[in-house]
Amino acid sequence: MILRFPGTRGEIEESNQYHRYHSSLVVQSKKANILIDFGTKHNPALEDEINYFNALLITHAHPDHYIWTKKEMAIGIPVFLTKDTLAYSKRSPKNVKIIEEGIKFKIMDLDIIAYKVIHSLRCPAVCYKVMGSKSIVYAPDLIDTEEDKAKVFKDIDVLIADGSSLYTNMVRRKDGKIFGHTRVKTIINWCKKYSIPKLIVTHCGKQIVSMEKEKLAGKILEYSQEAVDVEIAVDGLCRKI
Ligand SMILES: [Zn+2]
Ligand SMILES: [Zn+2]
Repeated sequence: MILRFPGTRGEIEESNQYHRYHSSLVVQSKKANILIDFGTKHNPALEDEINYFNALLITHAHPDHYIWTKKEMAIGIPVFLTKDTLAYSKRSPKNVKIIEEGIKFKIMDLDIIAYKVIHSLRCPAVCYKVMGSKSIVYAPDLIDTEEDKAKVFKDIDVLIADGSSLYTNMVRRKDGKIFGHTRVKTIINWCKKYSIPKLIVTHCGKQIVSMEKEKLAGKILEYSQEAVDVEIAVDGLCRKI
């Protein structure tokens, strides 16, 4: 299985050569080639290849993940999303496939399940578990999963998750409900607890984008204690797993 990161930037003002484009992930298996998320500031190289993917999967309707929240985009491939994501915008992709959380679906040789995550009050979000020769979870925006993490993260080889914050608190509260982002520090602890050998951090926020590289590496080492292989994704990163 090949993982490719056309973009790794969250919904922030800051950007640099490593984190220029909104986060998205390409998963390539023997038979399938899928893209997850396609935001307003997507990597322009994606526009030439978008109709060659077998499918586009959307995590939620925030514009850094779903361009249709802000503008029309004519593409022919099937776009998999939840009812909530589709309902959020008056615009929609042409070829829509509605998915239900917790129900497995197939794209060529990949089995995929969307799980609800806690992230936004207005744009309910999911993460995707993609199972082929290896298993991964892609969760670019989350405070936590709604279902038991022992189930969502069961037998995964790589977790790809939210880099919005390294250690600052980005959890907000409204009417007794929480929204926002968890911390990389917490995600590393999930990896330890649920025996996930590798974490790739994407959807990078202000802290990661502006921090000096050596200081960032030091922080990651402090949190992981080398018990988890942690990598900060940069635009264009490609990994065979
Ligand atoms: Zn986002
Ligand atoms: Zn979001």
